[in-house]
Amino acid sequence: MSQTIAAGKVVHIHYTLTNDDGEVLDSSAGGHPLAYLHGYGNIVPGLEEGLEGASTGDQRQVDVAPEKGYGELQGDGPQAVRRSEFPKDMDLREGMPVRAEDGQGNAVVLWITKVEGAWVHVDINHPLAGQTLHFDVEVTEVRDATDVEIAHGHVHGPGGHHH
Ligand code: ZN
Repeated sequence: MSQTIAAGKVVHIHYTLTNDDGEVLDSSAGGHPLAYLHGYGNIVPGLEEGLEGASTGDQRQVDVAPEKGYGELQGDGPQAVRRSEFPKDMDLREGMPVRAEDGQGNAVVLWITKVEGAWVHVDINHPLAGQTLHFDVEVTEVRDATDVEIAHGHVHGPGGHHH
């Protein structure tokens, strides 16, 4: 009997993500499907909600508003930080997340928006914050998660974690 997508299921999907202009931002086409554990916050909330109840072979188009995706844009825009503030051997590239501390010593994630000579520009917004996301999804497999996968909150094996 075919399984439907619900919390605690391991789901394999092929997907193409486009923005409002129809530009492809990300796609699993030509590679392995993405495997994730449903209901554990491994993918954006809006996509998780949009796939609820689907089963193997289903195709769905899911539109995700910023608040159910990578959030609304916040803050005053990117800030420039000296390259020398980062570890010397660290590979710094546009779009990469870096861990930092805010003024109160709390851990925060910043996103690199630009690397320019001695300066690295970082922003609190995910690169896809503020954007409506359009996912074109095909469900290729749905199975029960193992107890260990549930305990870890992520998928093991093909398309998931190896450890
Ligand atoms: Zn694990």
